[in-house]
Amino acid sequence: MSVFAHHTHDFASDPDTALAAADAFFQKTGVRFTPLRRRVFEIILRAGKPIGAYDILERLRDHGKIAAPISVYRVLDFLIEQRFVHRLATINAYMACVTPEDPHAAQFLICQSCGSVTEISDQAVDKAIAEGARTAGFRVSYPLVEIMGVCADCARDGKA
Ligand SMILES: [Zn+2]
Ligand SMILES: [Zn+2]
Repeated sequence: MSVFAHHTHDFASDPDTALAAADAFFQKTGVRFTPLRRRVFEIILRAGKPIGAYDILERLRDHGKIAAPISVYRVLDFLIEQRFVHRLATINAYMACVTPEDPHAAQFLICQSCGSVTEISDQAVDKAIAEGARTAGFRVSYPLVEIMGVCADCARDGKA
């Protein structure tokens, strides 16, 4: 397991590789990667930044696939459970995980100016959360941290 200051590979920038990795994973585990599950994951990958459930539905429709919102939410829950997708509550959007093969707590740097999100996974933060929760007698189900701010690009361009 590695510690990332910043991820060196970014699934969002290479959707084909990520999709192939997902195909291989589901083939290996025998979990059904149905056409709708695959399509939704592909839409999230190709979005390039976090995407809301409504936009996912719209894009499915653009591809001539009519899906009920409830089935899309079910697919999203499935993808989160399988660790291929993270849900960002702050901005109510979904993004592909950069290291689904590696179970991790995750921290997200969310730019309030351009909406870009960088996933970082710092074991020191994971550890602090685990210890703090243990002390409080709190059982963590989803140790996800969302950090709002301004990304390097926006800060440099003086947009924010
Ligand atoms: Zn992740
Ligand atoms: Zn930005």
